[in-house]
Amino acid sequence: MDAIFDYMEKYDYENLFFCQDRELNFKAVIAIHDTTLGPATGGCRMWDRYANEMDAVEDALRLARGMTYKYAAAGVNLGGGKVIIIGDPKRTDREPVFRLLGKFINRLGGKYITGEDVGTTLKDMEYIRMETEYVVTLPTYLGGAGDIAPMTAFGTIRAMQACCSRVYGSDSVEGKRVTVQGLGAVGHNVVGQLHELGARLAVTDIDPEKVNAMAAKYGVATAAPEEIFDVDCDIFCPCALGKVINDETLKHLKCKIICGCANNQLAEERHGHMLEEQGLVYAPDYITNAGGTIYDTDRLEVGNVNHERGRARVSRIYENIQRVFEIADRDKLPTYLAADRLAEERIRRIAAVKKYRD
Ligand code: NAD
Repeated sequence: MDAIFDYMEKYDYENLFFCQDRELNFKAVIAIHDTTLGPATGGCRMWDRYANEMDAVEDALRLARGMTYKYAAAGVNLGGGKVIIIGDPKRTDREPVFRLLGKFINRLGGKYITGEDVGTTLKDMEYIRMETEYVVTLPTYLGGAGDIAPMTAFGTIRAMQACCSRVYGSDSVEGKRVTVQGLGAVGHNVVGQLHELGARLAVTDIDPEKVNAMAAKYGVATAAPEEIFDVDCDIFCPCALGKVINDETLKHLKCKIICGCANNQLAEERHGHMLEEQGLVYAPDYITNAGGTIYDTDRLEVGNVNHERGRARVSRIYENIQRVFEIADRDKLPTYLAADRLAEERIRRIAAVKKYRD
């Protein structure tokens, strides 16, 4: 990105806010992409490995836009936003740093609502909450939804069921061979929930303790991290890193479906086309992994956490994926592009409703 306004104009951003305090060595950027559906919402990332400040600004803008699409495609009435604190995620003076961010967020009067992201924790959100109510990800004792990873896992499995329906004519995962890469917060929940549903599992992680724990608990097969792409299976479920679908892995994958919670699974956009050419069904990542955020933000619409309602909304990821397939078939697009179209159509159609004043 060379020129900020050109970039903002290209993707139609609304606002960009810079926040600075010398005493606290605090630098942050708040990006607001689109508030057609509701207040801009998206996590707070703390990161210092940027080549320069412009890279950090671009990251905030890119991630904010990603949130617009994520909420729109999920049917959540929120817009896209993000904050990047340019700083060491291990920095220890958390209270003043996050309270100050809370002050700045409060000045925006609810146009931006923050949450947890890479480099930040629920504890940090508590500090933000001391200064502003505009923070959604909170522990249960502060009225939040607490740990949302089980809901991300549940949503991932709903997407998987929609994929099974497309490929096998039945949405049951019972007896399906599923390979899970990454057994962290979401991955180990995916394994537990799929085990309950009768899937036949093979798992891997770079941490052997996590692999052994899953094998002991559920009797699942295991594979070395570098061997996971060669495991013969029906469904490959990436729950670790991004860029997992690339030139190299596409030569090895022996599945019919790719459906997992990892963010940014396509190394490059062309891999989304290559998947189609190889006859693989791909559940777009940002629709598949929206469960946690759907559950977490549900209370913004009605004021409190309601497990049944939140879970029912997460469950609709099944229908969202079906809609992606419909658009892909209708417009002859790879699913990753059909996902974007689903989001854009919703924003356009709700904008048409909103132009009428009450
Ligand atoms: P996590 O850090 O808890 O777990 C990631 C796991 O992947 C770890 O156990 C790690 O050891 C393992 N791993 C890393 N590299 C690996 C490799 N090469 N091979 C095998 N395993 C490897 O993260 P998480 O919260 O479970 O999130 C997993 C993915 O899902 C991330 O891409 C994240 O951005 C995405 N995601 C998470 C949520 C959520 O609710 N936590 C929501 C949306 C998206």
